[in-house]
Amino acid sequence: MTQLTRQYFEELDKNDQLASMREEFCLEKGLIYLDGNSLGVLPKATASHMGEVINQQWGEGLIRSWNTHQWMQKPAQLGDKIAQLVGSKEGQMLVCDTTSVNIFKLAAAAVKMRPGRAKLITEIGNFATDLYLLQGLAKLLGDQVQVVALPRDQVLGAIDQDTALVLLTHVHFKTSAMWDMDSVTQITQEKGALMMWDLSHSVGAMPINLDAINVDLAVGCTYKYLNGGPGSPAFLYVAKRHQDLFEQPLTGWLGHAKPFNFEDDYQGAKGIQQAMCGTPAVLANAALEVALNLILGVDMHLVKVKSQLMGNLFIQLIHQRCPEFEVESPQDKKQRGSHVSLTHTQGYAIMQALISRNIIGDFRAPKTLRFGFTPLYLKYVDLWDTVMALEEIMLNKSWDRAEFLHQQAVT
Ligand SMILES: *Cc1c(COP(=O)(O)O)cnc(C)c1O
Repeated sequence: MTQLTRQYFEELDKNDQLASMREEFCLEKGLIYLDGNSLGVLPKATASHMGEVINQQWGEGLIRSWNTHQWMQKPAQLGDKIAQLVGSKEGQMLVCDTTSVNIFKLAAAAVKMRPGRAKLITEIGNFATDLYLLQGLAKLLGDQVQVVALPRDQVLGAIDQDTALVLLTHVHFKTSAMWDMDSVTQITQEKGALMMWDLSHSVGAMPINLDAINVDLAVGCTYKYLNGGPGSPAFLYVAKRHQDLFEQPLTGWLGHAKPFNFEDDYQGAKGIQQAMCGTPAVLANAALEVALNLILGVDMHLVKVKSQLMGNLFIQLIHQRCPEFEVESPQDKKQRGSHVSLTHTQGYAIMQALISRNIIGDFRAPKTLRFGFTPLYLKYVDLWDTVMALEEIMLNKSWDRAEFLHQQAVT
């Protein structure tokens, strides 16, 4: 194995085709931000656009702006923008609600589309909200369906003729392990079940091909690799072929065929519009639109290649410099998403010590340190500097201080 040097990383930066993208983001000098997988960085263009939407569209236009600025059409327009990132034709995606709410809407619709089938299959250790929403749905429906959550290696074998839905997260939020979307979707559909992918940790980090893979349903969030801002609205995808039978239970007025007729009885809109519930978050959509316009100019293939190389180099450096950590993520880049996780029993305090040096990653209980590699605004040399800081923290035990050991509410 070649001995890596800081110069080697500087060379990579010089030849990086994505290097100029960093200029588009607000990043304080000296900060190394390795948490874009949890909350993406603010694009420079966001604040002025939001200022305009607030001052002109809202402040001056007031209620007229619903029409003049197409506020009501934003969920579908932004959905069609995300569609370009995930290989979807128009008319199959909306931006609305949260990922959690969208999981509920689509899972409930899936149960209706697969009558007589009782199993909702997912993975033990999936992102908690995915499990909780399936559990809540099963509880609501009484004995009609049950959640079957299994260890990762048992999921595929459990899919059978009694399975209504398989819900998996494409890239695991903790380990970064990535499912083979194509083959899992195929196995699910061979048994007649529907496949829903949670793309929260993959959208904006790699190319995705929902239509080509024939995915049924998908959801994901926009505040991670898409840089939509804290709490920015989520997206959902319902393949065109399912839209005639699709019926989701949160039958709010904006999913109605004619919302402004204010009829007493619900009649769902045709197409993807029926997946809407209530009023769109106009200000949040404005921030998201700027971020989407920015990322749509980027070749997702380049993003993926850079993130994979960054992950490989980081793992190699950790092996060389910080052998006391275990690498929790797959070592094979083809099976890994855009972050790398390490484990250590003192993980929380070690991460706090790193953060105090202006290197920001995060911690997931009980012992995972996560390092997100976001190719749009990270430099290769940031990896080198991170591992050198980590090596120093471990050598001098500088994590072993009361202020780092005390756990805060958000980790
Ligand atoms: C971040 C994330 C979510 C977030 O759901 P919210 O409803 O936005 O809180 C859901 N699923 C996965 C897999 C995630 O990583």
